[in-house]
Amino acid sequence: MEMQSIKIETDYMGYKTLRCKLVPNKDCDKKGKNYVKIMMALHKIRCFPDVLVMDQFNLASLKFKEITEANLCIEKINKELQDILKVYIDRCTITSKGVITDWPFNIQELWEALESRDDIVQLEKMKRKVYNPEKKESLFKETDNIIIMMKGNRLATKLKIYEGMGYLKVRPYIETVKQCYNCFRFGHMKTVCKREAKCPVCGAEAHGLCNEPLKCCNCDGSHRSTYKGCSVYQRNRDIKVIMAYDNVSYHDAVRMITDQEETSEVRYDRYEARMRSPRLPVSYADIGKQPFKVSGEVTPEKRREEVK
Ligand SMILES: [Zn+2]
Ligand SMILES: [Zn+2]
Ligand SMILES: [Zn+2]
Repeated sequence: MEMQSIKIETDYMGYKTLRCKLVPNKDCDKKGKNYVKIMMALHKIRCFPDVLVMDQFNLASLKFKEITEANLCIEKINKELQDILKVYIDRCTITSKGVITDWPFNIQELWEALESRDDIVQLEKMKRKVYNPEKKESLFKETDNIIIMMKGNRLATKLKIYEGMGYLKVRPYIETVKQCYNCFRFGHMKTVCKREAKCPVCGAEAHGLCNEPLKCCNCDGSHRSTYKGCSVYQRNRDIKVIMAYDNVSYHDAVRMITDQEETSEVRYDRYEARMRSPRLPVSYADIGKQPFKVSGEVTPEKRREEVK
């Protein structure tokens, strides 16, 4: 979820992230070229993010240490680059999401019991997907848990209730891993799937009742494609946990997890077995596509020196 933005209001430690997208007729299908186009446009308006990385083929994350620089960048893009770039504030830069499990009453009653409501952006009941085998469809059912969205990038771990008599615990909200029930890959739902239907048992093209040996569509392992112990599922789950606990976007979480993997891989390679490069399963489904890496961080100081 992204928000069309005016400016970032609260300052805090860490990067302020903007997401910047080329408008449809200004992009092309090559990520590398779009990266250069985005840099060119930002250079024109003298905007130098501390970090600039591509999230998708036409979408970049711009990270700023200073809130003033981030806000100036939004202003300049909206004023001078309207026909080239669209800019949003990354959701995690302005809000954090948590879950309340101990509230026994309804949302209205929670609202009234809270000592301070200033930082609360949204309260909603958590929904869970329930499959109805008769109708062959999934429905969302409300649960007792409440999802809370708060201002600021650091989630409060407790909220004062009943005039400060006590607290209500808040823990980070971990999204569930989406799995498609058509192609059995992760990250999207059946309703938007454009791939061919697969058999969740043997991994071949869908064919009804199956007596073939087990083979997973995602990792080729000998388990069903819906098995929660699958390494690809686990990786997707790890990404969701990082997203929740570090309050970062999906793309940032993928970068964090990939950096970890690469770091351990290099060490292993160099000292243990040069010939055997241990790689995680490559079919990371939709998310798994190796994130495009832009070489390192370019500081504004460095950039400014270069243009001198
Ligand atoms: Zn699918
Ligand atoms: Zn089958
Ligand atoms: Zn698997």
